[in-house]
Amino acid sequence: MALIVQKYGGTSVGDIEKIKNVARRVIETKRKGNQVAVVVSAMAGETDRLIGLAHSISDMPDEREMDVLMSSGERVSIALLAIAINSMGEKAISFTGRQVGMVTDSVHMKARIERINAERIKAALNKGYIAVVAGFQGITPEGDVTTLGRGGSDTSAVAIAAAIKADVCEIYTDVDGVYTADPRIVPSAKRLGKISHEEMLELASLGAKVLQIRSVEFAMKYNVPLYVKSSFKEGGGTLVTMEDETMEQVLVTGVALAKDDAKISIRHVPDKPGIAASIFKPLAEASIVVDMIIQNVSKEGFTDITFTVPKTDAKKAMEIVNEAAKSIEAEEVLTDENIAKVSIVGAGMRNHSGVASKMFQALSAEGINIQMISTSEIKISCIIDSKYGELAVRTLHDAFELEKVER
Ligand code: ASP
Ligand code: MG
Repeated sequence: MALIVQKYGGTSVGDIEKIKNVARRVIETKRKGNQVAVVVSAMAGETDRLIGLAHSISDMPDEREMDVLMSSGERVSIALLAIAINSMGEKAISFTGRQVGMVTDSVHMKARIERINAERIKAALNKGYIAVVAGFQGITPEGDVTTLGRGGSDTSAVAIAAAIKADVCEIYTDVDGVYTADPRIVPSAKRLGKISHEEMLELASLGAKVLQIRSVEFAMKYNVPLYVKSSFKEGGGTLVTMEDETMEQVLVTGVALAKDDAKISIRHVPDKPGIAASIFKPLAEASIVVDMIIQNVSKEGFTDITFTVPKTDAKKAMEIVNEAAKSIEAEEVLTDENIAKVSIVGAGMRNHSGVASKMFQALSAEGINIQMISTSEIKISCIIDSKYGELAVRTLHDAFELEKVER
């Protein structure tokens, strides 16, 4: 008997037939003699719909209220799934984030989990119930509803798996694993049988939407065996696990594309100590995550600073930066939302050279201009014009022959 956490995403619970399908799969797992806790997302498109409603009223809706609003999506799914399981003759009980004691900090819309009191889940499992838990939501210590950021149900699932010491956490989604690139962009993309936590973290933070980044951090920290599998077809899957030597033999394992960043440039900034701090401190205080930062060589005591932030935070960031720019007497602040970030990732990059130059050459051969570059030990990212995003992915997938990757 194993203790299994399964997570089903929005597309897997997109309509009543699909919910019944999930119910059958969960029941099947239980009847094989396992204890099962299921975490679900809102029905496909529901979170977007709710966000749309709020934005039809206000440009910058209050974040606390957004959490109250968005958390309703997962409430609907847990109730429907529990009803479906019960109707098929198995016992299920649904829990909201509050009911499972999913305590988070109070940063609305991107709260971080602080602790989980999993007693109610464990008690339900021990009484023979299938526990159906709402993903994406938590509560602050004061009792306000929070959400964990888009895609947050993955993190709920892994966190619950860690809390109840599950043997495995299975993330069921509309793809059957992690691919060398998005198969909708590169039809010859290959599924990876396994991928290291570090690679997955990079890919997740670079726009591969399969797993929320925090879920991978949790899996790594608490050593939770994490599988990505298809909720529609049997077999396949990708295991996210610790890096081993064989993984380093492959130079590049994946190409990712992200179009959710915006670029902000502050022009003609005095080049003196404290300037960067006066720009980035208020952004940090507003919990805005700044990704790439570039500062130009200074000319006659002035320089330009360019950086990227999530598009969803761009408005808030612009307000803050405009304010800061005034106080440091910068000339102007520009913003550009038509950018894409294309990245290559691979554990093998650690001890191979020439990967960057090959990437730049491949892009230039297609006439794609690189606006910003950033690197880590196992990834290289370039900011380019968003209209070339898909072309860049295909070009890099070809250049590094990823259709031949064996993993
Ligand atoms: N429903 C939330 C979203 O659409 C959380 C999730 O699906 O993981 O982002
Ligand atoms: Mg997801």
